[in-house]
Amino acid sequence: MQHQPNLIDGQWINADDGTTLEVTDPATDQTIATVPSVGQAETRRAIDAAHRAFEPWAARPAAERGRLIARLAELMHRDADRLAGIMTAEQGKPLGEAKGEIAYAASFLEWAAGEAPRMYGESIPSSSSEKRILVLRQPVGVCAIITPWNFPAAMITRKIGPALAAGCTAVIKPAELTPLSALAIGELALEAGLPPGTVNILTGKARVIGEAFFDDQRVRKLSFTGSTPVGQQLMRQASGNLLRLSMELGGHAPFIVFDDADLDRAVAGAVACKFRNAGQTCICANRFYVQSGIYEKFMQRFNAAVANLKVGRGTQEGVHVGPLINDAAIDKVREHVQDARDKGASVPVGGEKVTIQGLADRFWKPTVVDGMTPEMLCANEETFGPVAPVARFEHDREAIDAANNSPYGLASYFYTSNATRLMRTAEALHYGIVGANDAVPSTAQAPFGGVKHSGFGREGGKYVMDEYTSLKYVSWGLV
Ligand code: ADP
Repeated sequence: MQHQPNLIDGQWINADDGTTLEVTDPATDQTIATVPSVGQAETRRAIDAAHRAFEPWAARPAAERGRLIARLAELMHRDADRLAGIMTAEQGKPLGEAKGEIAYAASFLEWAAGEAPRMYGESIPSSSSEKRILVLRQPVGVCAIITPWNFPAAMITRKIGPALAAGCTAVIKPAELTPLSALAIGELALEAGLPPGTVNILTGKARVIGEAFFDDQRVRKLSFTGSTPVGQQLMRQASGNLLRLSMELGGHAPFIVFDDADLDRAVAGAVACKFRNAGQTCICANRFYVQSGIYEKFMQRFNAAVANLKVGRGTQEGVHVGPLINDAAIDKVREHVQDARDKGASVPVGGEKVTIQGLADRFWKPTVVDGMTPEMLCANEETFGPVAPVARFEHDREAIDAANNSPYGLASYFYTSNATRLMRTAEALHYGIVGANDAVPSTAQAPFGGVKHSGFGREGGKYVMDEYTSLKYVSWGLV
C-alpha cells in the first residue's frame, strides 16, 4: 500500500509524531493509501515556508509566473490518465468523468496563467496639479485553501491558479477523504518548477490545521469550498485576523422546465445536471419544476433516461453513476426518499440501494420522485445523491417563487424556447449562476459563485483575480 507524504517548502514530510490517515476507495471500502495526519507544528512550518516564498514569488515578472502555472496545466494533461485513476480510486466517480475533471482543473490553471500578466492598475487624475494618483493591484499574501472531496482536483486548481498568478503563495488542506489527487498535483507543481514554498499541502485533522491557519497573522486569506455550516464556522474564526474570504458553499439548485422547452435538450440537461458525480455536486439540480403542459411527456422521457443509467464501480466501462462517498451519504439519500414517500410522493424509478457483488454497500439506484411538495426534505435540503424530485406547476411566477424560496443561491437552471421568458426568468432568479437552456454552465472563463447561504466571492473569469489581490493607492506628491 502506498504512503504519500505532505509537501512543505518543496520537501516531502511526515507528521512529527508519525500518525497517519487512511484513504479508502468508496467503491470497495479497501484502504488504498495512507497520508500523514499533521498538527499545528507542521502547519506553522508550512505557513513559514509560504511566507518566505511570498515576496520573491510576487517579485517575479507576472509573465514568468504565468508560464510556470501554464506548465503545471501541461503536466496535468500529460498525466491525465494517471490522475483520473487516482481520483476514481479515492472519490468513486466514473473514470470518464474523472478525466473530464482533470481537463477542467487544468483549464483553471490555463486561464489564470493568462490573467497573471493582466493585473492592471490605474492612474486617476488628481484634483491637485502637484499630485498624481496611482492604483496598484497587489497580491494579498499567504492564502489558506480548504477544499471538499467532490471535485478533488478542480477545487484546488481554481484556487491556486489565480492565487499564484496574483503572486500569492498557498497552504492547501484538501478534504480528508480525497487527499491523493491534491498531493499528486503537488508533485507536478514541483516538476513544473514552482518554487519551494509557493504550494504547500497538508493532510490531517481539519479543525487542528484550521486553528493553526487562524492563529497566524501571516495568513491573509481563506478560500474555502464546502458546506454552509463549516463555512459559517470558518468565517467566525477568520474574523480574529480579519482574513479576506472567498466562500463557495452549499446549494439547492432548482431546475425549471417550461411548456415551450425543447424536450430533448431539457431531458438530456436534466440527466446530466442531476446525475453527474452521482448527484454529489454543489450545483447539481436538487429539485425540478415542470410546467403542466409538458409534464407527462417530460416525465415519460426523463424516467426512461434515468432508468437507463448504469450504476457500478467508476473503473468499469460504461458506468454512469458510481458509489456515494460514504455511509452517511447513503443514509441521507435513503432518508430523503423515505420522507418523500411518507409525504405522498411516488417513486417511478429507483428508490433503493443497488447491491453489487464484491463491492461496498454504497450504491444507490438513480431515482425519480414524482410529486415533490414544499414540506419534503428533498425540497429544502441538499440531497447530495442521485435523486431527482419533481413538482408540477401552472404559471411561470409559481415556479420562480418556488425556485427562490430557499436560503441558498448558487446555481439555477431552466429550459424555454421563448427569448423574452428566458431573459425575464434569468433576471428573476436569486442565484449567482443561471443555466438558461444549459445544464453544465461551469467554465474557467465565467464567474462561478453564489449569493445568500451559498456564500460569496467569484471563481473563474477576470473577476477571480479580485479574490487574491488588494488595491493599493499611491498618492504621489511631485516635489
Ligand atoms: P463536505 O460536506 O463537502 O465534506 P465540509 O464543509 O464538511 O464539506 O468540508 C469541506 C472542507 O472543510 C474539508 O476539507 C474539511 O476537512 C474542511 N473542514 C471541515 N471542518 C473544518 C474545520 N473546523 N476547520 C477547518 N477545516 C474544516
